[in-house]
Amino acid sequence: MDGTEARKIDRDEREIGPVPPLRRHHAGAVGYRWDGVPVKQYKETGTHFQKITRQVLFGANDGLSSDVRYFEIWPDGHSTLERHEHAHAVIVINGRGYVLIGEAVHSIAPFDLVHIPAMTWHQFRAAPDEPLGFLCLVPCDRDRPLRPSTEEVKGLREHATIGTFIRL
Ligand code: MN
Repeated sequence: MDGTEARKIDRDEREIGPVPPLRRHHAGAVGYRWDGVPVKQYKETGTHFQKITRQVLFGANDGLSSDVRYFEIWPDGHSTLERHEHAHAVIVINGRGYVLIGEAVHSIAPFDLVHIPAMTWHQFRAAPDEPLGFLCLVPCDRDRPLRPSTEEVKGLREHATIGTFIRL
């Protein structure tokens, strides 16, 4: 993949305009929900993720240069194994799970702070018996995530820690 391809923008699409000053959280609902915030598919297509939803809480339409998303992974589900030029700032707010960052796997719980540096392999997974919900801050203008090539998968599979954790 050449540099042009890698720089393609991955922007969260918003279905609503500028948001009102206050949108209430729906306490007691199944999962975390907010007024006027649609629950979306994590990504449009693919089988490289399981049991995960995406909600865009704040974004470019709100006069910000960052998007704040809420991801919710059902028990034993997982996000895509990927890396990209932009960094992630993650705040866990619900449940329990694990995150691969580079070559290490960490268990995570509310209100742990997770930083994913640029071009670092990462994957989130919910615990077998609990969901995992986290806020994720990213720049509005950001490059598209890259998934490992066949050759990179081979290397990752051979790594003692990464190899046993990742789901592709
Ligand atoms: Mn990512």
